[in-house]
Amino acid sequence: MEQTVATSHTPGRFDPENLQVTFCNKTNEEMRLAYWLFTMMGKPALVKAGGLATIAALRLGLPIAPLIKGTLYRHFCGGETLEEAQKVVQKLSAARVHTVLDYAAEAQDTEAGFDYVRDEVLRNIETGRDTKGFSYISVKPTGIGHSHIFEKLHHSQELNEEEQKSFARTKERLESICQSAAQAGIKVYLDAEECCLQNPVDELAEEMMRRFNKERAVLFNTLQMYRTDRVAYLRGCLQRFEGEPVILGIKLVRGAYLEKEQQRAEENGCPCPVFIKKEDTDQSFNQAIDICLAHLHRLELCAATHNEKSITYLTERIQQDPIKNHRQRIHFSQLYGMSDNLTFNLADAGYNVSKYLPYGEVVTAVPYLIRRAEENTSIAGQMGRELSLLQKEMRRRRM
Ligand SMILES: Cc1cc2nc3c(=O)[nH]c(=O)nc-3n(C[C@H](O)[C@H](O)[C@H](O)COP(=O)(O)OP(=O)(O)OC[C@H]3O[C@@H](n4cnc5c(N)ncnc54)[C@H](O)[C@@H]3O)c2cc1C
Repeated sequence: MEQTVATSHTPGRFDPENLQVTFCNKTNEEMRLAYWLFTMMGKPALVKAGGLATIAALRLGLPIAPLIKGTLYRHFCGGETLEEAQKVVQKLSAARVHTVLDYAAEAQDTEAGFDYVRDEVLRNIETGRDTKGFSYISVKPTGIGHSHIFEKLHHSQELNEEEQKSFARTKERLESICQSAAQAGIKVYLDAEECCLQNPVDELAEEMMRRFNKERAVLFNTLQMYRTDRVAYLRGCLQRFEGEPVILGIKLVRGAYLEKEQQRAEENGCPCPVFIKKEDTDQSFNQAIDICLAHLHRLELCAATHNEKSITYLTERIQQDPIKNHRQRIHFSQLYGMSDNLTFNLADAGYNVSKYLPYGEVVTAVPYLIRRAEENTSIAGQMGRELSLLQKEMRRRRM
């Protein structure tokens, strides 16, 4: 078990251009694979057709799992089992990068499926207790409970008796995860999903924080800053907990379901819950950082982003502000397989940083992999940046 890396020295200047640090734990073979993958992901038509073909091939039972395992899966996932993922955890830990273990199975929508996910998460927490560099796990609300029940609660609709029992079981699952995480010194990042499910997730998160976030944050709620209401939610949350002996856990992201949210609002003729302009999302993300920094005496912050400007902004604020005692309250996180220049250089400069590392069977990880491939075609400049860094390093290594 390892607690948050409270660095004894002052974090240094963060330099995302340092290539030797960026690729410190990539072999030449891994560099070639990454280069090939990012080149392929630069072709949106290919990604779209590839995603559809992969799903169709899996449905037809064609033996394509080994192909996926040797390519996309190898780049973005930790392995099929916890034991395989542990090797990656150790490799990251050697570079002072922590792991957020993310059980990537797309849950079956059954009580038995949700119990299975809870048991796997509990097993991870037990393993994390004794593993250096592994002190975070992530939990997807719809991995432990029915999405239609979250949706009904979000819209303040009444649950029937069966649904009430089912939701009580969802809550118990989250409680048992928080309870073991609190005992094992592990942090739990509760992922945010689509807006139409989020109100009951926020309520559950606040209830768990009240119970488990005593001397430190055990549970983190995720705030999607592309939502127009999230700055107000953050302020409201701080007000609700004013004077209580609770350390809030706040994970900031921009949000992963932009097009879906815009489309749903248009179809339903409702006001759009997310910003229309990227600059507004960026501004609300930084505003949330400012609010969190102003309340670091009673919260822990995780900036989960690949945006270099946001990260530079936060590292500069850390350098400027007299918040030395609270430095261990700030974390950064990126997804495994993306933005290594940010992660490894943050670690090298002495910041608390982690990688989200999904693991699970190849076939069940396919939806996650398709989302990563699509994201890398749509993030403006991201894919080009990954490629140009890889190219420079390959030249430096004379590959
Ligand atoms: C460690 C980690 C954990 C994550 N966990 C979650 C999670 O629990 N839930 C979740 O939803 N997402 C999660 N994400 C994904 C995240 O929300 C973003 O989709 C992704 O990280 C890209 O945003 P960025 O800040 O990294 O980069 P950027 O490239 O700076 O931002 C891209 C993001 O900006 C926003 N955006 C783009 N265009 C517009 C526009 N026209 N108008 C308004 N906004 C726009 C979108 O949110 C888009 O994803 C996570 C990401 C990381 C790194």
